[in-house]
Amino acid sequence: MDLFKLAKRLIPEELLNPEEYENIYPQRDVQKGAEVTRLAPSPTGFIHLGNLYSALADERAAHTTGGVFYLRIEDTDEKRKVDGAVESVIRSLKYFDINFDEGAEIDSPLNKYGPYYQRRRAEIYRAFARKLIEEGKAYPCFCTEEQLTAIREEQTSNNLTPGYYGKFAVCRNLSEEQIYKNLDEGKPFVIRLKSEGDISNKITFRDAIKGDITVTENDQDVVILKSDGIPTYHFAHAIDDHFMRTTLVIRGEEWLSSLPIHLELHKALGFKPPKYAHTSSLMKMDGGNKRKLSKRKDPELSLDYYRKAGYYPKAVVKYLMTVLNSNFEEWLLKNPDGDYKEFKFKIDKMGKSGALFDLDKLNDMSKTEISRLSAEECYDFLKTWVDEFGAEKDKKHFEDKEYLIKILNLVMGTGGKKRRKDIERAEQGVRLIDYFFDDTFSPQYAYRYESAVVNKVLSDFAEAYDETDDNSAWFAKVKAVASENGFASEMSDYKANPENYNGNVSDVAEILRIAIAGSPNSPDLCTIMGILGKDRALNRLQNAKI
Ligand code: GLU
Repeated sequence: MDLFKLAKRLIPEELLNPEEYENIYPQRDVQKGAEVTRLAPSPTGFIHLGNLYSALADERAAHTTGGVFYLRIEDTDEKRKVDGAVESVIRSLKYFDINFDEGAEIDSPLNKYGPYYQRRRAEIYRAFARKLIEEGKAYPCFCTEEQLTAIREEQTSNNLTPGYYGKFAVCRNLSEEQIYKNLDEGKPFVIRLKSEGDISNKITFRDAIKGDITVTENDQDVVILKSDGIPTYHFAHAIDDHFMRTTLVIRGEEWLSSLPIHLELHKALGFKPPKYAHTSSLMKMDGGNKRKLSKRKDPELSLDYYRKAGYYPKAVVKYLMTVLNSNFEEWLLKNPDGDYKEFKFKIDKMGKSGALFDLDKLNDMSKTEISRLSAEECYDFLKTWVDEFGAEKDKKHFEDKEYLIKILNLVMGTGGKKRRKDIERAEQGVRLIDYFFDDTFSPQYAYRYESAVVNKVLSDFAEAYDETDDNSAWFAKVKAVASENGFASEMSDYKANPENYNGNVSDVAEILRIAIAGSPNSPDLCTIMGILGKDRALNRLQNAKI
């Protein structure tokens, strides 16, 4: 059969000679050992924690070696495309300070390996598909959906591996006459790889994360170009990662089963395969069992969840670093103020199996990270969240920066040696300080004393209160009110004869705290009253009577 003639008939358009692409996309000018990595999402609009986890590994692998991290959009499946998805990937990752050096929608002088959208690279794939046909490594397949279903059914009923291979690959052996007859009749066709693999052969291959892995050779005549001329993921992956000069493909372990196909495609195309690193799936504990994070069950899988809940982005990244490299935590202990980018990330230190995602630990890291901010930085962080997700009331509150800074200094304990870790996330932090504003103050007047006692304590303290008092003068007044109302002003007296008292000074302070802050737990009450100002503080004492 004249394969050149066939190739030209199947793919008739003017295309570049495939060899020319080697010059169009030259080897990258990067130092030895530099890794070129990519994130290659489908533009479905759903960007999840797994993408962030992978992107962080990609970004670290590239940037710790002087390499390049780029964004390629795998849009071969038009049906799954969502408008604005690419911008959303870039924006979501940027929030976590993960930035691309080049690629789709990235404004960069490095953009020399594009187009970075696969649909715009159709000519490259077609040029190579034609080359494979000319070389007898690919062929047209005219099988209809019905024929493929019949093949599948036969395989299933005979307990055979499903797919298009061996004797089932009926179009592999079509005569020249049959092929041209089909073409003349205008029958639609796909282009398939003519696999040379044999499932009795094993290949050992080195995964950058999982180490040596033995897989079975591919013998499936996989589709490389679909009937609309658009490539399949497999074919596009081999061509794009070759010409975009990717050195390290980091991708989820669900792709491991396709690896034999990819190795064969690289061989057929005459390309040296990149290094592969298959990351283990993110798992969570659920009722004592470890299971994969699921889109349906786990809201924390979506990256939007973290933005909406107002996680401190650096905390999420640092937490993911602990999942990526188990020695990161140790480094963090030694370098509590260090930038995670100084840590020597190593791809081969990534976990070989199920990486456990622990939301409690993330929350804890988020608290610690936020507690290290200055009040000013914390204000900026909370305000950014409020501007995007806050209610109108929150936005109003955040207009008074001076007032907010006073609150944050108190809530974060910035003056003291030991910082308070009360703020875990922006959403929760903004709610935590609601009691400083009358329109969001929602006290629970759940006193442990009768109204007569409570009301008298509140009146007496209101009378004694002087906003110019320092902390000790303020406390002396609480003690005085305690004594006047049958409470022990000294703990030791109370402990010696509890039966002689209504309670002690801390019980009085609790009544005042409930009145002023709306709950029995709050930071320093004297400071809270100072921040609220005399009028508001006295009003609250008055309103808190029952
Ligand atoms: N487009 C593939 C995905 O959405 C990318 C796989 C890869 O990184 O090679 O998962």
